[in-house]
Amino acid sequence: MKERIGAVILAAGQGKRMHTAVAKQFLELNGRPLITYALSAFQESMAEDLVLVTGAEQLDYCRREIVEAFGFTKVKAVVAGGKERYHSVYEGLKALAQLGPMDYVLIHDGARPMVNGEIIRRSIEGARKYGACVAGMPVKDTIKLADAEGFGAGTPDRSRLWQIQTPQTFSFPLIFEAYSRILSRPEGQERITDDAMVLEAESDCRVKLIEGDYRNIKVTTPEDILIAEALLKGEKGRK
Ligand code: C5P
Repeated sequence: MKERIGAVILAAGQGKRMHTAVAKQFLELNGRPLITYALSAFQESMAEDLVLVTGAEQLDYCRREIVEAFGFTKVKAVVAGGKERYHSVYEGLKALAQLGPMDYVLIHDGARPMVNGEIIRRSIEGARKYGACVAGMPVKDTIKLADAEGFGAGTPDRSRLWQIQTPQTFSFPLIFEAYSRILSRPEGQERITDDAMVLEAESDCRVKLIEGDYRNIKVTTPEDILIAEALLKGEKGRK
């Protein structure tokens, strides 16, 4: 039977570090809302069912001005997210589950416009092979731990450090169960910043680190807009 691959695209953050009135995922990047770049990459991928997660007050705008206006026919649901990223992910997973049995899911930050077909392909391959994988790249800088007073308190071995990106890609039943379990308890939700952490806390499945791309940046602060625009201009044939 043909496998079914879904994706949750996250756009429910408030983007406070951007200091703009418009949430960062809807800011224009080379004349198009930021969120449309990731959606285009997934529209053209092997994933057939996309769920877009956004703020409750942006549902109508997203359905009309993003999904309909840009013809993202694979977006099967636009749902409201939650307070933290992991709440939004869970809302997206629940919406995907309602579409029918799902084999794999890619979870992607809508604020990463540079995701492309190659990264998505490697992610799906990784999930098939290992059950769970996250895109990332080895860090280039030396990383230090800081103590409470802001002094260096240790220097982890750089050769083993990766900066983690999205997509984070999983066997659907595995990640859905992990999220359902962690969110059913009041404790254990501190400092969840990615999906792999949820799986690691709730199962003994190991998460494979696969090659992302140094260009696959998350647009977070104002200078990232300039960087993303320059990167996008450098990509011929980018939709
Ligand atoms: O806040 P951060 O930059 O880590 O957000 C990563 C992604 O998660 C962004 O695409 C953002 O829109 C999304 N997010 C969300 N719901 C939240 C917080 C963040 O969908 N409550």
